[in-house]
Amino acid sequence: MDTQLLFLEDSYAQEAQAKIIEILPEGAVFDKTIFFYTSGGQPCDTGTIIKKAGGEKGSIIKENAGDEKNNAGAGGKEYFVKEVRKKDGKIIHFIEGAHDLQEGDEIFEKIDWEKRYKLMRMHTAAHVLASIMFKQGKIMITGNQLGEEKTRFDFNMQNYDTQFMQKCIGDANEALSQGHKVKTYSLPREEAMKIEGVVKLAGALPPSLTRLRIVEIGEIDVQADGGTHVKNTREVGKIIFEKGENKGKENRRIYFKLEK
Ligand SMILES: [Zn+2]
Repeated sequence: MDTQLLFLEDSYAQEAQAKIIEILPEGAVFDKTIFFYTSGGQPCDTGTIIKKAGGEKGSIIKENAGDEKNNAGAGGKEYFVKEVRKKDGKIIHFIEGAHDLQEGDEIFEKIDWEKRYKLMRMHTAAHVLASIMFKQGKIMITGNQLGEEKTRFDFNMQNYDTQFMQKCIGDANEALSQGHKVKTYSLPREEAMKIEGVVKLAGALPPSLTRLRIVEIGEIDVQADGGTHVKNTREVGKIIFEKGENKGKENRRIYFKLEK
């Protein structure tokens, strides 16, 4: 059974109910997860899970049926989720002190929202900037690492051009401030691949994917992407250029951050 990826359905959800479906030596697999796993240059979520009191099905305390969310995990034990990774097709949650967790345990998941939201803003900013670099200079991003504090882009460019980068960042900030809506939907692979630059930041896509998740930012960017994004570009704020580096013959690297 594949884990249902709740963060793809609603990137603003911070909590969810789930069940442990498998315990592996390195961690646990859940039927549903709200935890983003490290992929596409976006770091994973961290957070907590609470094992419901009793730990078995049917033991959930439901004193306030209408208020299950606030009551979830009452009396349960809390664990720290320090890392989430995909391995052999499974989403594995690395949990501290997990020795007493079992298959079938009902849990309540909660992510570190401050961290996630920063990464959502950063991810949307990265798409807007990458799109503008592509449109204005046919620059393709060859590597990227999103961070809470700063983000790194690697790309090919013959001579590093400060003015070009400044113009791109200025235009990206202008676009962000216009309040473009961010939409996600899925398309058959063949149809998606007809869109110019649809994989400019995501890198190579696994050939097995028959449908692609598309993230569309107003008229600015359309991209095959599995990341979490904000709903409106105004939430991002402003990109601040930090530094540029030469990393070999044609390889250039920049770092940028977001205004708080
Ligand atoms: Zn992305």
